[in-house]
Amino acid sequence: MDNNHFPPGMVILVGAGPGDPDLLTIGALKIIKAAEVVVYDALVSQEIVDMIPAKAEKILAGKRGGGHSVKQEDITSLLVKFGKENRRVVRLKGGDPFVFGRGGEEACRLAEENIPFKVVPGLTSGIAGPAYAGIPVTHREVNANFAFITGHESLSNTSDKNPDDEHPSRIDWEGVARTFPVIVLYMAMRNVDSVRKRMLAAGRSTDTPVALIRWATTPRQQTLVTTLGKVSKDIKAVGMRPPAIMIIGNVVNYRDILKWFPDETLIPPEE
Ligand code: SAH
Repeated sequence: MDNNHFPPGMVILVGAGPGDPDLLTIGALKIIKAAEVVVYDALVSQEIVDMIPAKAEKILAGKRGGGHSVKQEDITSLLVKFGKENRRVVRLKGGDPFVFGRGGEEACRLAEENIPFKVVPGLTSGIAGPAYAGIPVTHREVNANFAFITGHESLSNTSDKNPDDEHPSRIDWEGVARTFPVIVLYMAMRNVDSVRKRMLAAGRSTDTPVALIRWATTPRQQTLVTTLGKVSKDIKAVGMRPPAIMIIGNVVNYRDILKWFPDETLIPPEE
């Protein structure tokens, strides 16, 4: 990427990957180095934030489940404003910008405003996170498909609807439980118990293996291995908090053979 491919006034939505700087793409790194202003999320790891050139303006516009958050409209408007100011703008997002990261909304607004933009996909935490915990999202012997679901969706039962949610549930949990042997849940901590109940109600067994991987691919990675029957209790017992990916299905069992990542903390420690 030379500066001709990143002219002033362009906004580039860049996926930073899940955290480990080795998982940043070469394209992403070149663009970060050429940026004049970088608007980044709370999920972007510190090592990657440290790669932003000192001369560039850095703006943390992160959203973090439960914590301080900047309104999405304000973030998008900031991108539009910087674009109109003819700066080279990078919107740096955790994982892949178009996977539950509202990158789609940001890109639509840029398109509407006629601001030139590009997208640099990143490695999504729903695949890389389990991999760093020794869990393949597919294995021939287990699954021929997998589902990516956001735990942020409000649930179909209005009584457990999250007041922050703007849309009613679009997830047919019963259908999901029946169709997908492996389910990867983003923003998992929000609705774990409702998801668990729905999976069990749809006939998934209480023994179904479940793993939660927090701060995946970073030195702070924590992994909890449990089952659909015990997941809520175990989360409480170990006090696991976001950000975490939850993976449900028999692929979790491969961890016993494939666990390779040395830096994780197991909670609770495995016997
Ligand atoms: N665009 C991102 C997802 C944004 S939604 C991606 O492609 O990965 C935010 C959710 O992503 C978090 O709540 C968490 O479930 C997940 N997530 C992102 N990075 C993570 C990491 N390093 N470890 C565990 N979960 C992560």
